[in-house]
Amino acid sequence: MLLKKIELQGFKSFANKTQLEIDRGVTAIVGPNGSGKSNIIDAIKWVLGEQSVKSLRGSKMEDVIFSGSSDSRQKNYAQVTLTLDNKQKLLDIEYSEVNISRRYFRDGQSQYFINKTECRLKDIHELFMDTGLGKEAYSVIGQGQVDEILTSRPEERRIIFEEASGIVKYKSKKLQSIQK
Ligand code: ATP
Ligand code: MG
Repeated sequence: MLLKKIELQGFKSFANKTQLEIDRGVTAIVGPNGSGKSNIIDAIKWVLGEQSVKSLRGSKMEDVIFSGSSDSRQKNYAQVTLTLDNKQKLLDIEYSEVNISRRYFRDGQSQYFINKTECRLKDIHELFMDTGLGKEAYSVIGQGQVDEILTSRPEERRIIFEEASGIVKYKSKKLQSIQK
């Protein structure tokens, strides 16, 4: 599966619509301190459903919305869209290209979309389960996380292997049916 495009609008330091097209191979994002490199990673985690403001380096969810600068007013909402190539059908959806979007307004209203159709956060989580790409998966490895994986308890490390082996979806379904 290939991440083809990241579109940010009103997200953190990206006040205006910004598109990053990603090619095959390795992509490096370079820039001076404070230029927004980590904000791009935050955007990827956020659109995949990250709910922890701490992990997004903020103190409240509103902190993801562009807060204004000397020459731009603050924005009322933040939106991020990822475009993924799904030709290999790793995502269990019939389309060969998949768009995932999240929008968040200052009043706290939240919206998620899969291919421009509004959906629940749960649908996003389920779509990415067992693909290694979900918000808790290993597709985004932050600073210190390698150490964390090496020093974690076996029970915690097991979660990573479960995601990689593709059984998280079944465990989650089992849990849901037990709870019903
Ligand atoms: P470093 O090389 O130091 O890691 P970086 O390129 O990763 O830097 P980021 O952490 O992505 O930088 O960007 C930080 C910048 O984003 C800061 O200047 C901060 O003011 C700005 N920023 C973060 N949240 C918002 C927001 N809600 N509105 C406007 N600007 C924001
Ligand atoms: Mg950084």
